[in-house]
Amino acid sequence: MKKYNYHRPQTLKEAFRLMEKYNGLARYIAGGTDIIVRIKKGVASPEALISLRGLEELRGIEVDGAGALTVGSMTLIRELEREPVFTKNLPALSQAAVALANPQVRNVATVGGNLANAAPSADCAPPLLALEAWLTLEGPGGKRDVPISEFFQGPGRTCCAPLEIITRITIPSLPDKTGMAFLKSVRVNQDIALTNAAALLVMEDGMCRKCRLAVGAVAPVPLRLKATESAIEGQKIDKELLGRVGAMVESEISPITDVRASEDYRRVVTGVIVGRAIKQALRKVYPDGQEVLG
Ligand SMILES: Cc1cc2nc3c(=O)[nH]c(=O)nc-3n(C[C@H](O)[C@H](O)[C@H](O)COP(=O)(O)OP(=O)(O)OC[C@H]3O[C@@H](n4cnc5c(N)ncnc54)[C@H](O)[C@@H]3O)c2cc1C
Repeated sequence: MKKYNYHRPQTLKEAFRLMEKYNGLARYIAGGTDIIVRIKKGVASPEALISLRGLEELRGIEVDGAGALTVGSMTLIRELEREPVFTKNLPALSQAAVALANPQVRNVATVGGNLANAAPSADCAPPLLALEAWLTLEGPGGKRDVPISEFFQGPGRTCCAPLEIITRITIPSLPDKTGMAFLKSVRVNQDIALTNAAALLVMEDGMCRKCRLAVGAVAPVPLRLKATESAIEGQKIDKELLGRVGAMVESEISPITDVRASEDYRRVVTGVIVGRAIKQALRKVYPDGQEVLG
């Protein structure tokens, strides 16, 4: 493997200065579980590596007065899996973390790296899309907030400018009677998703007031299923409606055939796991379930 200059700045300003010095041709490195693999495969060949590990600005978890949760982009996948602030309040995000790779990877991989890498299969993307998170991006010119739905532009492509860093991820507060779930389908244990899905439901008097559904690995970017969401909002989620979910989902996605699965298989399995994620989310609100599932 080619030798790289490795820098470990202590401030964002220093990180931007270093990236400018390399004319944007260096790469930021967080946990390194994606970028090092790409370098070893010869798919990426940056002029230098600029570590984000020394940047205190990218760490920490805060809850504001309105209940919105802000997470530093260097938060480890292991923290999403284990910390009560996630397991209790954002179970779909914790379920995604548990499903990502293995403990060794989760101990170093970060949520910011998972998003910035922009793999269509990124496990943190569907729950954060369903939660309507937004990302704070900072560059030498200042900071801006971007809804996660506008962040992904294609496989490996995001709206980040070359010097920009994801600094924080903010998740709006959730009303009472919110249920959420994440599911992932894989060929073998520890594989990346052949399809994954998150569902978030806000219920009121047995009816669905708000529905957010998102899937990964079945389109060039992680995707919200807006037509299916609209068909569910305002409805009682009963067996008849759930029976129609698979076909609605299938018509909203554009999977491809690759080593992990055929297009047809992905299409069918995605419809099935979205339906199951909806049922799981519903059970979080109504643990007895009978009165809503009919
Ligand atoms: C064995 C193995 C199994 C895996 N299994 C899964 C899986 O099941 N599901 C899954 O989703 N992923 C999986 N991955 C991929 C990877 O572990 C995750 O995507 C991980 O979250 C990446 O985070 P990282 O901190 O290691 O990113 P890095 O490798 O450090 O960075 C990834 C990319 O993002 C950029 N970047 C990192 N942080 C920032 C930031 N804050 N702002 C701007 N740019 C940034 C880097 O420049 C780089 O281009 C697996 C990887 C391995 C090696």
